[in-house]
Amino acid sequence: MTTYDPDNIFARILRDEIPSDRVYEDPEFIAFRDITPSAPTHVVLIPRGQPPTGPAALEDSDAPLIGRMILTAKQIATQLDLDEAGYRLVFNNGPDAGQTVFHIHLHILGGKQLGPVA
Ligand code: 5GP
Repeated sequence: MTTYDPDNIFARILRDEIPSDRVYEDPEFIAFRDITPSAPTHVVLIPRGQPPTGPAALEDSDAPLIGRMILTAKQIATQLDLDEAGYRLVFNNGPDAGQTVFHIHLHILGGKQLGPVA
């Protein structure tokens, strides 16, 4: 899916139409706890605005955005005390990866031994 739906769940969270447990905010990103956590700590980091719908929609010009997302995720992982034990960063793309929200996002997972990637 490449067409951005301005009423997707994350757009509504950004507009505070849906409440979220935010753990981080800056002028470019917000991060909040996933409503269905897959690990003891499971946070979703999203850009503000109308970003690409997912990894497949990225263009070369989005490289700085993705770089800043990963660096911001690192900062959040440290804030949540995940940095010493470790954590996983996941971008889902498309049906086989289980992508359900088409507003690019980075999952930050940790708080236990996570095991194999898939
Ligand atoms: P995806 O599966 O698209 O990579 O990730 C979407 C994530 O958003 C899922 O892990 C899902 O649990 C989470 N999610 C969906 N709806 C809500 C919501 O209303 N609030 C929060 N906090 N997370 C949500």
